[in-house]
Amino acid sequence: MSRDKTLIVANWKMNLNVGEASLYLHQLAKLVKSHRDVEVVLAPTALALQSLSLQVNSRQFKLAAQNFYWRDHGAFTGEISATQLRGVVQYALVGHSERRHIFHDSDKDIRAKVQAAVRNHIKPILCIGETAFERSEGETSDILHDQLVGGLANVTSEELEHVVIAYEPVWAIGTGKNATPADVVMAARAIRRQIKHLYGAGASEAIAVLYGGSVTADSAADYLAITEVDGLLVGGASLNAHDFNEIIKKAHKGSGVAKV
Ligand code: PEP
Repeated sequence: MSRDKTLIVANWKMNLNVGEASLYLHQLAKLVKSHRDVEVVLAPTALALQSLSLQVNSRQFKLAAQNFYWRDHGAFTGEISATQLRGVVQYALVGHSERRHIFHDSDKDIRAKVQAAVRNHIKPILCIGETAFERSEGETSDILHDQLVGGLANVTSEELEHVVIAYEPVWAIGTGKNATPADVVMAARAIRRQIKHLYGAGASEAIAVLYGGSVTADSAADYLAITEVDGLLVGGASLNAHDFNEIIKKAHKGSGVAKV
C-alpha cells in the first residue's frame, strides 16, 4: 500500500442492516468529493458487501470485510473465506481488538488470515495495539512487536507492499478515551522501527500506518497531521454519513491539515 494516499476506513461493526448500509452509501456518495490523495474504505456487515459492491462507484469508495476465515474452501459452517470475498472487497480487517479479545482470534489465526487475504489479492489491514493494563505496565512497544511479528510471519517483502498496519490501542476503542498525538507518534515510530528490523528501511518508510481509537471529526486533524500516520480507522464516528464526511474532508491535502 503506497503512502501517496491517506486512507480513511469506516468500521461499522455489527451496525446498520443491508437497507441502512445502502442508504448510507447513497448519502455519503453525494457528500464526498473524490480526491486522488484520499482512499475511503467502508467495512459494513458481511451481509451487505455483495449488494454494496454493485452499488458503489469503486473509484469513489473501496469495500472491506470486517472478518473472514483463513481457509479458502471447505466444511467450515458459518464462515466466509477470502476466496469468496475476492472481487467483492479490496481490503479486510485482520486482528481487530474485538476479534482478538471477544472471539479469541489467536496470533496463529491472525497470521493465517493475513496470508489468506494476500493470497486472494485483498489488502489486509492488520490491527495491533496494547490493552490498558499492558500500557500501565510499560509494555506497549513489546506488544506491538509481538503482534507485528506474529501477524507478519511468512509475509514476504513483496507481499508486505499490500499490507496496512493500524495502531489501535484497545483502551481507546469505543471508549471515547483517545490516545494523544504523542502516544500515536511513539507507537507509529515503534511500528516502523520493527518493520525496518524485519524488512529493511525501504519497507519501513513505505508501509501505511493508520491510527484508530475514538477518532471524531474534532480529533481527526490532530492524527492526520502526524508524519508517521497515513490515515484513520474509524468506528463509532463513521456510523453517520455526515460525521464521517467531516473526517474525510480533513484528509484532503487542501484541507489545511499540515504534516508535522
Ligand atoms: C474500531 O472499531 O476500529 C474503532 C477504532 O472504533 P471507535 O472509533 O469507535 O473507537
